[in-house]
Amino acid sequence: MSKSVTNLQKTCLLWQQRLRLMDWKVKIRLVKFSELGEAVARIEPDLDSKTAVMLLLCAEDFEAEIDPDFPMTYEGLIVHELLHLHFYPLTMETKEPVLAEEQAIECITDALLFGYKK
Ligand SMILES: [Zn+2]
Repeated sequence: MSKSVTNLQKTCLLWQQRLRLMDWKVKIRLVKFSELGEAVARIEPDLDSKTAVMLLLCAEDFEAEIDPDFPMTYEGLIVHELLHLHFYPLTMETKEPVLAEEQAIECITDALLFGYKK
């Protein structure tokens, strides 16, 4: 998969359809590691306007962050961040990331992308 924003945006739209998130307008931005802090991706939703900015690690920093034991793909990151939109109304009041939410999203992403191969 090409890592251009245009292609990532297409992948995002495909998964928005599959996850029934077409009421959201999601804009992808590729950013440096320093802009993301500790994470490799982040989504910043605005529930009122149903818009979100999805920050993904740019390609050159992405390669450096890959852990061979936990390989990740842009598609995986996009699905993960999109799932946050479903959970957002439940956890938006909390300032810190909710561990149970992250674990649920990891499990669902894994099942959606890789479950059929096992
Ligand atoms: Zn997450």
